Amino acid sequence: MLNFEEDTKPNGMPPGMMRAGAFDALPTKKPVVATGKAEQIDSAVPARTAGRIRVEDKRIINCNADVNQLVPFKYKWAWEKYLAACANHWMPQEVNMTADIALWKSDKLSEDERLLVKRNLGFFTTADSLAANNIVLGTYRHISNPECRQYLLRQAFEEAIHTHAYQYIVESLGLDEGEIFNMYHEVASIRAKDEFLLPFIDTLTNPAFKTGTPEADRQLLRSLIVFACIMEGLFFYVGFVQILALGRQNKMTGAAEQYQYILRDESMHLNFGVDVINQIKMENPHLWTSEFREEVRGLIRKGVELEYAYAEDTMPRGVLGLNSGMFKEYLRFIANRRCQQIGVDVLYQGATNPFPWMAEMIDLKKEKNFFETRVTEYQTGGALSWD
Ligand code: FE
Repeated sequence: MLNFEEDTKPNGMPPGMMRAGAFDALPTKKPVVATGKAEQIDSAVPARTAGRIRVEDKRIINCNADVNQLVPFKYKWAWEKYLAACANHWMPQEVNMTADIALWKSDKLSEDERLLVKRNLGFFTTADSLAANNIVLGTYRHISNPECRQYLLRQAFEEAIHTHAYQYIVESLGLDEGEIFNMYHEVASIRAKDEFLLPFIDTLTNPAFKTGTPEADRQLLRSLIVFACIMEGLFFYVGFVQILALGRQNKMTGAAEQYQYILRDESMHLNFGVDVINQIKMENPHLWTSEFREEVRGLIRKGVELEYAYAEDTMPRGVLGLNSGMFKEYLRFIANRRCQQIGVDVLYQGATNPFPWMAEMIDLKKEKNFFETRVTEYQTGGALSWD
């Protein structure tokens, strides 16, 4: 906790309270930490101007306005997504896992179905930790708008809930947690997806990285596109289809319900990311060159290849009436959709959706639960009782 030297406070302001734009004074008036040692404020935080915020001063990146003043809103879509995300709140332990536990212990699941579940969890158990680290240690610092940051704070918590959900499934089924959580090192198709992502995450989490030049701003934009459109928008979808397909066959219904809530959250993460990307493009049109758009298409194409390899690896023989060929078409269909959402030319002309039922999964309403097991009232503290 920082205390500010007496002369940085305006007259009459109580100790500990900062005036708007108080960070202006920091380069010349050093903050003093409680230990009495001087400390440098994070240089990635842009300089603020004192005074009340005007809507027209706000920008998604490289904004000089005070990021501590949430209102007046400029990007109402960000605030509305924050409210919608809060309204969708759920916790993993609210979902009844008893049927899954009984099924897993029985002989009613094939070896291929078991492999699918384990490799599915093998990706997801660590994927949302990567996502959370990317937001908290990376993206958040570079998005200089308070209503977008408000959503990112909510999103970061949702990534934690998702990791919790996967851990809860692993624990409920009594799986070897070391095996599942280490699959992202040991299973080549999972490793390949994560290795593709890591350089883009590293860009944003590098303490020395700063926006403010066309090259750096384009690096940020590239990482935001990879994260929203490829990680959250492509790399999650084979896994979502697999577990939701199991649920549609009345298998692993608890896990399927958890994934349904996760899918709903993730589709909002994706849509928020798309809105941020498009707003940055509008505010910084010089970044969006034809060369850059082609590069983005190449990245999305690479994402499709990696996700398809993962589909083959999780379903080597076809299972649940699904096979990897159907996923090839589905991934092409989704990739086209991501291209359209951010305004680049589609990659796979004529691709169609072999899983139209996925749309109804995303459109889950709180009061209209597909599996009808959801406790609608959110309870704070303690797990729910199911007897
Ligand atoms: Fe996410």
